[in-house]
Amino acid sequence: MTEHFDMLIRGGTCVLPWGQEATDVGTRGGRIVALGVPSSATATTTIDAKGLHVLPGLIDPHVHFRDPGDASVESIPMGSKGAVLGGLAAVFDMPNTSPLVVDAKMVAWKQEYVESHSWCDMGIYVGGSKTNIPELSDLELGRGVCGIKIFAGSSTGDLMVEDDVNLEKVMRSGRRRIAYHSEDEYRLQARKSMFKSGDPYASHMEWRDEECACLGTRRLMHLARKTGRQAHILHVSTAQEFEYLKDYRDICTCEVLVNHLTQVAPDCYERLKGYAVMNPPIRGQRHMDAAWKAVNDGLVDTIGSDHAPHSKEKKELPWPDCASGLTGVQTMVPIMLNHVNAGRLSLNRMVDLMCAGPARVYGAVGKGRLAAGYDADFTLVDMKHRRKIENSWIVSPCGWTPFEGMAITGWPVATIVRGNVVMRDDTVLGKPSGKLVKFVG
Ligand SMILES: [Zn+2]
Repeated sequence: MTEHFDMLIRGGTCVLPWGQEATDVGTRGGRIVALGVPSSATATTTIDAKGLHVLPGLIDPHVHFRDPGDASVESIPMGSKGAVLGGLAAVFDMPNTSPLVVDAKMVAWKQEYVESHSWCDMGIYVGGSKTNIPELSDLELGRGVCGIKIFAGSSTGDLMVEDDVNLEKVMRSGRRRIAYHSEDEYRLQARKSMFKSGDPYASHMEWRDEECACLGTRRLMHLARKTGRQAHILHVSTAQEFEYLKDYRDICTCEVLVNHLTQVAPDCYERLKGYAVMNPPIRGQRHMDAAWKAVNDGLVDTIGSDHAPHSKEKKELPWPDCASGLTGVQTMVPIMLNHVNAGRLSLNRMVDLMCAGPARVYGAVGKGRLAAGYDADFTLVDMKHRRKIENSWIVSPCGWTPFEGMAITGWPVATIVRGNVVMRDDTVLGKPSGKLVKFVG
């Protein structure tokens, strides 16, 4: 009897957990059911992937879609559209919105809103603040919640837990891995008066210096060991932290940002001015080299875009009044593929960082692996395609990318989420059908 599938992906080179294989993939009911499908099999939809690589659906575990907030800058419908155009099947969205996602009411609102407005699947972070610590152990188990996010250094205004007493209380308030923005708030505040309005944009990395990040990470690791609570340090940005964290693998995983692998000071500040300002800052060559070393040593678990749009007006203010944060969700995959083509990492390692890594760190169920029984999420890429990143391609309403003009080799040509083709050749298809990602409780 001829076997019938919902979808067959024929003729591609698949990046499997055990390496690359030229094989065909069959899906049914939104899941992968077979690899190595006989030529006699039929399907409702057949995708010709000849000349393409078939990756598990790529995941960006660090975006700020600003929803609710200011839709003229970013929103879940537009941010997730950028995600699928850029080859991402799922994103995990941060809680520093207006209002903040810090209580059961806002979590419920976001759960409903995501499943009626998102183009990709999504995970939701819940923000930890000094006032919601007693509720965190319940909130972290909510549907679609990927974890608690703690801002231990000021990046975002009112959402912050900076002192050891409250950080320890947070760590003792639940059991899942906590994601941290690690910069020492006291050192940040103490150094602020060393600078004045209108100083060069590169002052950003002098103010938020290496020690701000290192001190924050040392304090968090001390408390994580003391409490036994697993930690994930977001956007590690210094050579010293990469070295230090090698001794904390029992309690800590870590992320590096595309920006810290791609942009370098002082060039970025001279060229981009406010459009290079983000937290933690882009630093010098030594730190970029250390980030690549950490990627290739296997220390880094996940790669994030830290997509954090702001209006052009706010980015063009003099330093330090210019807003911190860069766009990146749509450009992340092309830039990483370009790094693969430049020989900086292998395609297998990229998939490890963008699929298996986030699934392992956050406990995502059915994601991050091209294997039977997993969600039928795929990113099809053409490793030979050459194209320039252009502002006109960016769908984020803020309308800019710090990577404008960058020449890329390697481009995502299709995004498939649970068996639905949501992007093909730069066109978004169907309607928003994203769902909340499931996490191990
Ligand atoms: Zn962020």
